[in-house]
Amino acid sequence: MTEGRATFPIEPWSLTEVGLDHASLGAYESVFALANGHIGMRGSFEEGEPVVVPGTYLNGFFEERPLPYAEAGYGFPEQGQTVVNVTDGKLIRLLVKDSPLDLDYGEIIDHRRTLDLRAGVLRRSTEWRSPGGRTVRVTSTRLVSLARRSIAAIEYQVEVTDDQGDLYVALQSDLLANELTAIDGDDGDPRAAAALRKPLQSELAVGRGRRAVLVHRTKRSQLSIAAGMDHVVEIPDSSTEDIEASGDLARYTLAARIPPGGSLKLVKFLAYGWSSRRSSPALRDQVEAALATAKLAGWERLAREQRELLDQHWDEADVEIEGDDELQQAVRVGMFHVLQAGLRGERQAIPAKGLTGPGYDGHTFWDTETYVLPVLTYTAPHAVRDALRWRHATLPLARERARVLGMKGAAFPWRTIRGEETSGYWPAGTAAFHINADIADAVVRYYNATVDDDFDRDFGAELLIETARLWASLGHFDTEHGFRIDGVTGPDEYTAVVDNNVYTNLMAQRNLREAAEAVKRQPDVATRLDVDPDEVEVWLRAASLMAVPYDTQRGVHMQSDAFTHHEEWDFEGTPPEMYPLLLHYPYFEIYRKQVVKQADLVLALHLRGDAFTLEEKTADFAYYEARTTRDSSLSASVQAVVAAETGHLQLAYDYWAEAALTDLQNLHGNSGHGLHIASLAGGWTVAVAGFGGMRDHNGELTFAPRLPEVITRLRFRVVYRGRKLTVTVTPTQATYRLGDGEPLDIRHHGRQVTVDHSDLVLDIPPAPKVDAVRQPYGCAPRRRSRS
Ligand code: BGC
Repeated sequence: MTEGRATFPIEPWSLTEVGLDHASLGAYESVFALANGHIGMRGSFEEGEPVVVPGTYLNGFFEERPLPYAEAGYGFPEQGQTVVNVTDGKLIRLLVKDSPLDLDYGEIIDHRRTLDLRAGVLRRSTEWRSPGGRTVRVTSTRLVSLARRSIAAIEYQVEVTDDQGDLYVALQSDLLANELTAIDGDDGDPRAAAALRKPLQSELAVGRGRRAVLVHRTKRSQLSIAAGMDHVVEIPDSSTEDIEASGDLARYTLAARIPPGGSLKLVKFLAYGWSSRRSSPALRDQVEAALATAKLAGWERLAREQRELLDQHWDEADVEIEGDDELQQAVRVGMFHVLQAGLRGERQAIPAKGLTGPGYDGHTFWDTETYVLPVLTYTAPHAVRDALRWRHATLPLARERARVLGMKGAAFPWRTIRGEETSGYWPAGTAAFHINADIADAVVRYYNATVDDDFDRDFGAELLIETARLWASLGHFDTEHGFRIDGVTGPDEYTAVVDNNVYTNLMAQRNLREAAEAVKRQPDVATRLDVDPDEVEVWLRAASLMAVPYDTQRGVHMQSDAFTHHEEWDFEGTPPEMYPLLLHYPYFEIYRKQVVKQADLVLALHLRGDAFTLEEKTADFAYYEARTTRDSSLSASVQAVVAAETGHLQLAYDYWAEAALTDLQNLHGNSGHGLHIASLAGGWTVAVAGFGGMRDHNGELTFAPRLPEVITRLRFRVVYRGRKLTVTVTPTQATYRLGDGEPLDIRHHGRQVTVDHSDLVLDIPPAPKVDAVRQPYGCAPRRRSRS
């Protein structure tokens, strides 16, 4: 699905659509999606059409489908998992005299929608003249509650704005299961979703008063879902009501005669629940009870709770940017969506698209641990605890997968919803073992930032130990090269099944060492898992002998063995329409050449920055920069961070915009499938790790702030070990201040300092002078100047 490029007026705390832009409809549905980590609702219109993907998702709710192979092989996953568009509760259809409200017909007098990042709601105001000539204004405010995870609500109002006498209207407020969700024209794009036809089977349908509940079950995965709605209405004297519920549709109908200038108002409360075990009546009762409490609280209170929660979040996490208002907006929008994706996941995964669309089948990848959790670790740490507890809950499946693969410990899936490996293409799936070290890295980061000993004892240490066991069995000692990890795929999916991928090896090295530390901290856990001192000895030996291939002739690291000896890609002969390469060239051709899909060695320079000197970083960055296509949206933010560290501040700024605007400008042409949550997380990461220079190696918090020319001031906040730290950066100075708690030792450009409750103002040394780097022909980022 290639769509238009949305454009939004620049506002600091909101995102507004003005008028109806058909070409960008799908992208708008994604950027206007509301979610809380449990429920996700795309920003489709209440009246249902026009629509591209009318999705409503419940985290963890999926259908199974067979994964067919042209040639089968041992250990290939046989079942796929695909996110299901569940019962749609957003629908409120409106009949104006005898015309249904549909923006494709009649005349749009005024239409705007605003995602309010502080209120956490999507507001809509549409004034519309029906084909029959009557004029109404429809306003709605929609929220998915961050405070009550099973609740969503819509406040909906119709006003008569003409003076042609009384107007007869009918509202149909629906719950609708098995909506058609086909995304046309995506055949062959591995990033799209498998189409499921009518995945839900009806189990129960009840309607009473203004309330109705539908319960359905998936055919193969045997998961049950209940969706309920209830209504509070303010209606004119003359009206009738009706409720019906059966099979795939529950409908509350309200017909009314509205006098000129009069209005009709309705609040629709929605509750969702799903289960693999509970009976249909039990699920029905659960959502009815949730509805009762939501209705008791009322719309005003739900809206107030939402704002209070977000006030607190922004107070602890906001990033303020002076000098680029568009990026200010984009970074906040990105942070908002990251929060929505993860806040109330509560032991479910955080999918690559959050709950904003069906792209990648709703799967979770390493995106979560490597891109999303670093943001949440310092802005909403309890969400990280939950996400990692989900990983921990899938340990039995990961152990079983390791056993099938002939390995020890645990092998976590490259992509999944429930925990089973569901990647059908193993060179860019099972072989991407680095995900195990990525999970370990997220555990370590969370532990260092929170010192959450309970988590360490109950979940963290076990994750570190079982992943270390995987590395010990996956690699081997070689007399010449030390500890080798062969036949794996690193982050760069254009170079698959390679030996000694530097990123993988260095992340595994950290994993092995941190597991040894965890054994010391948690001897009981180690005893329970039968860890003996010899095993720990092997981990430490493997870590210290880890192979890190280096090309002495070129003076750079090899992304993996022999990488720098591969043939160069013919970038000059690759026209722009041939990107992304994966859709236009055979993998056979791509794998043999020096062409990089996304930051790989460069990601190692960031996440294992403690393993490289600045000179090495500078040389490696220049080398890989010239060969990286950024065909994955996961690349730009990492390139920005390392560009900033190595003194390429303008380039870092250009990449910052690319990461943060990925979906607001639909830069990959597929934002309609759902948002690129990892890339949006990158908006924060470039601010904090890039221009703030924040690193957290080995439990030490360090900063090396430096701004690009256009930015006159950057301020960010992080939560660290229960304290709030505010960092304000100007072109010449950085100011550190703690909100509360004990003083904190940090480093500023290498110098150790202690921050307390007064301003600590420090000078910023000038940036190192560096030679310009170049990108592959046609791949340079758009140069960004003052907006
Ligand atoms: C990237 C992976 C990523 C996946 C999901 C792919 O295009 O290469 O690194 O995990 O998208 O975002």
